[in-house]
Amino acid sequence: MSGQINAFEMAQKQFDGVAKQLKLDPGVAEVLRWPMREFSFRIPVRLDDGSLRVFQGFRVQHNDARGPNKGGIRFAANETMDTVRALATWMTWKCAVADIPLGGGKGGIIVDPSTLTVNEKEEMCRGWVRAMWKNIGPRNDVPAPDIGTTPQMMGWMMDEYSRLVGQYTPGVFTGKPLGGGGSLGRTEATGYGVIYTVREAMKHLNIDSKNSVAAIQGFGNVSQYAAAGFVEMLGGTVACVSCYDRHEKKAFTYSKKGGIDPRFLLTIVDEYGTIDKAKAQDAGYTVEDGDAWITKEANVLIPAAMEGQVTADTVNKMSKNIKIVAEGANGPCTPEADEYFKKNNIFDIPDFLCNAGGVTTSYFEQVQNDMNFYWSKDEVLGRLDEKMTSAFNGVVERSEKEKVYMRDAAYMVAIDRVVKAMELRGWLTGNA
Ligand code: NAD
Repeated sequence: MSGQINAFEMAQKQFDGVAKQLKLDPGVAEVLRWPMREFSFRIPVRLDDGSLRVFQGFRVQHNDARGPNKGGIRFAANETMDTVRALATWMTWKCAVADIPLGGGKGGIIVDPSTLTVNEKEEMCRGWVRAMWKNIGPRNDVPAPDIGTTPQMMGWMMDEYSRLVGQYTPGVFTGKPLGGGGSLGRTEATGYGVIYTVREAMKHLNIDSKNSVAAIQGFGNVSQYAAAGFVEMLGGTVACVSCYDRHEKKAFTYSKKGGIDPRFLLTIVDEYGTIDKAKAQDAGYTVEDGDAWITKEANVLIPAAMEGQVTADTVNKMSKNIKIVAEGANGPCTPEADEYFKKNNIFDIPDFLCNAGGVTTSYFEQVQNDMNFYWSKDEVLGRLDEKMTSAFNGVVERSEKEKVYMRDAAYMVAIDRVVKAMELRGWLTGNA
């Protein structure tokens, strides 16, 4: 989280608002406002030049009433304990709304991974596990990749854990590489999950998907498969995608008359989500400023790049025909944008529902690891569709019943499920 915004204060504020609407017992609310466990530790790493450096590591376990904690590990220079607390809290709500039997966790190391050699990265990963191994595991906390960490890193971490416990334990980390315990369908999962929720929203609002047009921000993991899914599953048109060009250090919007071709763009995008501008122009794409994506004529808006993109300023630039906003990214819409959506009757699919396809498929990966039996891609995606559809319908139902905005309804569903699990386990009676 950049600037002066404290992500954890924001997470607590969002929770407090819904806890009040739910008339949650103040003691119960106090349990959920804070993570249950927090780990802060130092990781000594021998660098390739022979020097020894010590890095700061974190793991936060917010709430595991519904099952083992789940959440990524970030390697980032601006990582803070409060960021990790916030992300762990949001993971509790995301797992609960998707109704997967997991809690919320998050971890990290304060480091810019681009400054490390491959050896140093591996040492860092193994060091994180040596610090945490007694407090993670398939039955208590299952980390995954996040910003600055990769499937290969999860492979090293799983290996270190397996050595320490003395047995092959692939289910301790998810997001592992295919062939190294990873699951088919994980790459597509978040983007396709976004599209499953958009499809359900269209049914709910009686919108014809074949005549629909989406404007998408980003062309990374989430947005690539959201774009492909919008065209291939819904029969719609994608007016544009955008990306941050890491060579020119500037964002651009890519559009084409009649709609972009996501599969073509997939052949000219690099692993960081930067589209090859010259090749796109050769293929007849119009390249405009990064901000242009939000102004395109469309009825579906999919911000799937980063946080804080649909704001008090940019929301006014949106096409007046937008009927659905599908939050592929985490936190892409500010509270001011929410107010605009409410006033203009725009249907918002909140982030922790819309992009829950990633964690849901991570859960499937863990299940496959536990069984040592691997599913086909169709089976993974079929189960994902079922989970996302049912999560979406649960939130819509709550939103209609309580006459509340979709984001609040999603919080209500999630908080209720976590409170119920705590009650059933006897955590709230004082005897546990
Ligand atoms: P990514 O790094 O693969 O892709 C990000 C894309 O956004 C890239 O194309 C990048 O160029 C583009 N981008 C960055 N800054 C931009 C800007 N200013 N304007 C336009 N485009 C810009 O990331 P991702 O995995 O696709 O994640 C995107 C968002 O979705 C993040 O908020 C992430 O936390 C969230 N998310 C991801 C997953 C997942 O499984 N990958 C799951 C849940 C949530």
